[in-house]
Amino acid sequence: MRFHILTIFPGIFDSYLNESLFKRAQKKKIVFVRTYDLRAFTKDRHKKVDDRPFGGGPGMVLKVQPVWDAVKKLKSGRLKKHKTRVILFSTRGKHLDAKAARRLAKYEDLILICGRYEGVDERVAEHIADEEISIGDYVLSGGELPALVLIEAVSRHTPGFLGKEESLEEINGSFPTYTRPEVFTPVKGKRWNVPPVLLSGDHKKIADWRKRFDAMEKNRLK
Ligand code: SAH
Repeated sequence: MRFHILTIFPGIFDSYLNESLFKRAQKKKIVFVRTYDLRAFTKDRHKKVDDRPFGGGPGMVLKVQPVWDAVKKLKSGRLKKHKTRVILFSTRGKHLDAKAARRLAKYEDLILICGRYEGVDERVAEHIADEEISIGDYVLSGGELPALVLIEAVSRHTPGFLGKEESLEEINGSFPTYTRPEVFTPVKGKRWNVPPVLLSGDHKKIADWRKRFDAMEKNRLK
């Protein structure tokens, strides 16, 4: 699984992707993540990636040209024969959910376009992106956090990404979990207990208890 991120802030991704699961997954070549600075694809002396909106209004708009050149270069080069999907992050996009994450995990390469400012010239959505994705009904300052969210959600469906110690909820269910101690005393006289069924040793009962939460999970994953 390869992720190609087009952004004007490539530095944002460094620390997150160099820790823990992503560090291991990249080392083991299970996922490949690369950022491309949109500024490098500008054609004017000042490397301008934004401009004023036609029709007026506040703020600036990310230009179509650097995005086009970056996507064109990627698609005509190393991704030529790959099964590729171009995604634009947008507040107007389809919501990212588990089903979408599973669907996107089937591509070999995802090109992720991170918007900024007041948004991206609409011709990117019209002519360059295959789909628009939103990570929820709130407005962020850029597509960088949505890109990280998508990369993580999709990577979890890539074989080998999750180690033995992590699990895919879809297989194991997403139920509440507890660990030692059996009774936690936050302040004197208070007792925070673990549900007795989990300490019963009765595997059938435990499985039934966990399934109650699974019903909800199945709905959510539909
Ligand atoms: N005025 C725009 C907001 C632009 S925010 C609007 O109301 O739609 C700047 C960029 O951040 C967007 O182009 C998009 O790429 C990204 N972004 C912001 N919120 C997002 C969200 N909830 N999901 C996905 N991308 C988002």
